[in-house]
Amino acid sequence: MRLIVAGAGGRMGRTLLRALHETEGATVVGALEAPDSELLGEDSGVLAGLAPNGIPLSADLWTLSKDADGILDFTVPAATIANVAIAAERGLVHVIGTTGLSASDNAVIKSVTSRAIVVQSGNMSLGVNLLAALVKQVAKSLDDDFDIEILEMHHRAKIDAPSGTAYLLGQAAAEGRGIALEGKSVRSRDGYTGARNRGDIGFATLRGGTVTGEHSVIFSGPYERIELTHRAEDRMIFARGAIKAACWARGRKPGHYSMADVLGIGG
Ligand code: NAP
Repeated sequence: MRLIVAGAGGRMGRTLLRALHETEGATVVGALEAPDSELLGEDSGVLAGLAPNGIPLSADLWTLSKDADGILDFTVPAATIANVAIAAERGLVHVIGTTGLSASDNAVIKSVTSRAIVVQSGNMSLGVNLLAALVKQVAKSLDDDFDIEILEMHHRAKIDAPSGTAYLLGQAAAEGRGIALEGKSVRSRDGYTGARNRGDIGFATLRGGTVTGEHSVIFSGPYERIELTHRAEDRMIFARGAIKAACWARGRKPGHYSMADVLGIGG
């Protein structure tokens, strides 16, 4: 499968280039970066710490996508939204890992999925998607005597909060409870907040150092607590998941797919 790496100069972009280098059946054919990036023209292999691959960073997705089957997109919301239309027009599989997308961004993505193949997930790792399935099951088994809190920690450079993964886990908990997350989610607490509302799903964010990503879902009931935790040790788990998603999606019917679909674990 011929893939374009978007955000090729970023942390995930470079990891994707390394992961593609060691994956049979998938190859990089384009490296996309922001139009104002200082890295434009640089060899993407060298940037990723590999041998030169003759694929320079470019800001022109339309030209890059002429001979591609898919795009792996871990960038920023504005870039992902700009890429959506071109990917749909070119018939590319669009794997979206970008987080921090607004409701209207997500509506734009959904609007193309009658004709485009999109796989979107706030976390592309096997472990977190399994965790989401477990969270859904536990939330279904317990009533709202158990308060649900989601705690996440990431490296100091992360620019959105709560993380896409925390949101994904919150969605899983809400689905397990049979409620909509919107209206029940408490994204931050500060000052005189009053007591916790029964049934709320709380989020807490920690930022610092070089932490790849840690998430805990805490079910806190009367005199006992259940904690489910995932710790990402290397970005490679997201990159491998994204490549797996692209290969899985190739040739499928247009639609909006999740990593649970890719992994067959029915989150
Ligand atoms: P990063 O290091 O900041 O990389 C983002 C890259 O996108 C940067 O190189 C940035 O370039 C580039 N970019 C900005 N505008 C662009 C455009 N118009 N076209 C192409 N590239 C553009 O961030 P990261 O840690 O790699 O994370 C990227 C995203 O993936 C974040 O939303 C993060 O939360 C998410 N993520 C998702 C998963 C998952 O499994 N779903 C896992 C890890 C991370 P400049 O620096 O020049 O602006």
